[in-house]
Amino acid sequence: MNTDGTNTFDNDKGAQWEVVSGLLRAEIGEAAYQSWLKPMTLRAINDGQVKISVPTRFMRDWIVAHYVDRLCQLWAKENPGIKSVDVYIQSDREAPQTVSRKTAGPEASSAGGHVSNGVTVNKARNDISGPLDQRFTFENFVVGKPNEFAYAAARRVAEASTAQFNPLFLYGGVGLGKTHLMHAIAWHVQKSTPDRSVIYLSAEKFMYRFIRALREKNTVDFKDQFRSVDVLMIDDVQFISGKDSTQEEFFHTFNSLVDQGRQIVISSDKSPSDLEGMEERLISRLNCGLVADIHATTYELRLGILQSKAENLGVKIPPKVLEFLAHKITANVRELEGGLNRVVAHAQLVGREISLEATQDVLHDLLRANDRRVTIEEIQKRVAAHFNIRTSDMHSARRARSVARPRQVAMYLAKQLTARSLPEIGRKFGGRDHTTVMHAVKRVDELRELDMSFAEDVELLRRMLEG
Ligand code: ADP
Ligand code: MG
Repeated sequence: MNTDGTNTFDNDKGAQWEVVSGLLRAEIGEAAYQSWLKPMTLRAINDGQVKISVPTRFMRDWIVAHYVDRLCQLWAKENPGIKSVDVYIQSDREAPQTVSRKTAGPEASSAGGHVSNGVTVNKARNDISGPLDQRFTFENFVVGKPNEFAYAAARRVAEASTAQFNPLFLYGGVGLGKTHLMHAIAWHVQKSTPDRSVIYLSAEKFMYRFIRALREKNTVDFKDQFRSVDVLMIDDVQFISGKDSTQEEFFHTFNSLVDQGRQIVISSDKSPSDLEGMEERLISRLNCGLVADIHATTYELRLGILQSKAENLGVKIPPKVLEFLAHKITANVRELEGGLNRVVAHAQLVGREISLEATQDVLHDLLRANDRRVTIEEIQKRVAAHFNIRTSDMHSARRARSVARPRQVAMYLAKQLTARSLPEIGRKFGGRDHTTVMHAVKRVDELRELDMSFAEDVELLRRMLEG
């Protein structure tokens, strides 16, 4: 058997995948990446054949039609031993296809368990659990001031044999490590106490499954699956809000698990009280456990993360470059990682050393986007100046059209140009309700249609703010 014929799924292959998907991501852009590339899971590399799984048939067909050739080319550059890339469907219902070959030895079988990750010892229950990213472990999580509390809470939950704080509610902005911590809990529990069953799934999937069970009239099975679990983790629970019957089911499942002393971990990009359209009783239940928020990253944490990722990638990167990246890419860890991957991928592709100049060059669009990020305060100042009103009127209760309209414009721009949620925006405008912001956004949209000069005003402001 040649070197690619083994079943070991080592870091090297994970790193190759990271580079290859990083390259393709740079080519196809962020939106396409999120839709097509991100759901792919590298399952194995055997005999020069890369095996990648995706969750649906539709996705597989699309990827095969649009991306697979390019993926294969990029991969062959990374690793000349690669001859083909095979994409297959791994639906939640089917057991994962086996990746082990005829010659699977003891080493291979343990690696196989890793490859088809998301599968725990308890198969019957676990066909409902989503796949786990094998890089998302506690060991790979860099701890700093902004996330130390959430990290400690997650660790405690993972290490304890009984429920600790119920639920543990991980709360933080996009790309700050919520999913990473949840997977880390799952990995840890699976390894240290394999007889305990863990289910990890996104709230979307939870909803989808519930709706399907309703349709197929087997909600009893659905409920049983959840109610016999030791640790239930639901990611991005903000997606459940507003969907009444799912909320109801979630609430019951939740209560019954808590009553039985099972551990629940939930994540959300909003705090419990900011979850729009979430029922009051559910919110108070969520608030009962421990809410651990992950704060925006600091420079030190970003630098630490970059150093650790560089080490994992096994590449030498000048400290100046890492400092530059930590300084410039501040939005979240996902972008930071993406930036680093692109720099590394580019250097390997063109066969040049990584330098500060090359970094600035390769990342020029990403850096611009980060430079451009405006704050709500700046928006308020600019808009107030433009319409000749006082900045304090942005927060005041005055409802005269002359101040109300500019305020609506500022809310509109805040929604467009920042990543803030409606409730957050409302709070910055004198503690207004999120429905007020929603109304403002709608109103400005309507006016832009009706009134050309108004539309130009808004456009001008936007361009000034975007710099
Ligand atoms: P979220 O679920 O909060 O949107 P993720 O958990 O998906 O964010 O994290 C985004 C990316 O950043 C992942 O690749 C994750 O591994 C990485 N990441 C986030 N925080 C850290 C950290 N503290 N140390 C190492 N990697 C991190
Ligand atoms: Mg996440």
